[in-house]
Amino acid sequence: MKKENTELRYDILSNEWIIISPKRGTRPNNFQQIKDCPFCDIKDQKEPKYYFYKGRENKEKKWTTIVIPNKFPVFEESDISEDILENNFYTKKISPGFHDLIVTKEHDKFISDLPVPRIEEFFTCISKLLIEYRKSKIVKQVAIFHNRGEKAGASQPHPHYQALSLPIIEREHQNELNNFKNYYNKNNKCFHCEINKIEKINKKRLIAENDDFIAFCPFAPKILFQVIISPKRHTSSFEEINEKEKKSLSKIFKKILLKYDNGFDNLDYNFFLHNSPLDKEYPYFHWYWSFSPRINYFGGLELGFGLEISPMTPEEQAKTLRKM
Ligand SMILES: [Zn+2]
Ligand SMILES: [Zn+2]
Repeated sequence: MKKENTELRYDILSNEWIIISPKRGTRPNNFQQIKDCPFCDIKDQKEPKYYFYKGRENKEKKWTTIVIPNKFPVFEESDISEDILENNFYTKKISPGFHDLIVTKEHDKFISDLPVPRIEEFFTCISKLLIEYRKSKIVKQVAIFHNRGEKAGASQPHPHYQALSLPIIEREHQNELNNFKNYYNKNNKCFHCEINKIEKINKKRLIAENDDFIAFCPFAPKILFQVIISPKRHTSSFEEINEKEKKSLSKIFKKILLKYDNGFDNLDYNFFLHNSPLDKEYPYFHWYWSFSPRINYFGGLELGFGLEISPMTPEEQAKTLRKM
């Protein structure tokens, strides 16, 4: 049987890469078919890469957090790597890569329900994966994200977090990198360090702050109740985080997610890490987390023209979140 490889196809009209991955269509949806949870009992999973217990890697395979290669990966670890031109016109790319899942032990506990040391353990797994991916010659961008609930794209109710390496830098991230670079070249300072400073002074969109991080609603939000968590210390890639910062991040992360849990009725959301690509150094970039609740649905204006309409000012959104 011919193995169906994932293809990246380039859309010349929008300058976007699209992922075509037929085997992803075969993965089960446990929100719809009630079956045994594939993460409560991991016997049918691939062998985990890392087992973590009490904040440390555990060689006896005892775990509260594990990293497992996705059984239905978008990209697979293989030697195949091809750039193909179709009809001397369309461009597609077949490339290997990584697609790992970080799974936490409890079936019904999300990040917001876990104690701070367990959240630190989750961040340690992310650092470890970034260090591993950086050694590979094929990885450019890494997408680290979480889908909470069916509306946010999850196919399993058991909390899991995804790390997907890409052999390209997708359009939105490339655009963001260009903006950081241009701002740095013009002003000789980091764009996001400046945003952090302004949000601290302005306070209207500020939601929470500690020694190492600030959380705020962005000045021009794409999503209703979108929140950014940004480190105060300028670093480009997440694995540069130190132990003190990891604890501070865990606390502020939990605080924001508890606001979503307490202020809304069973809110579905995504969160994403905006990180520098791993193929070279991007000193002008500043990593941050972005949280997107799934409250408003996209209509024609958003889907067709990329124009988001927010029914509430971000200042009002931040005020509401501060009280939650
Ligand atoms: Zn489970
Ligand atoms: Zn910065």
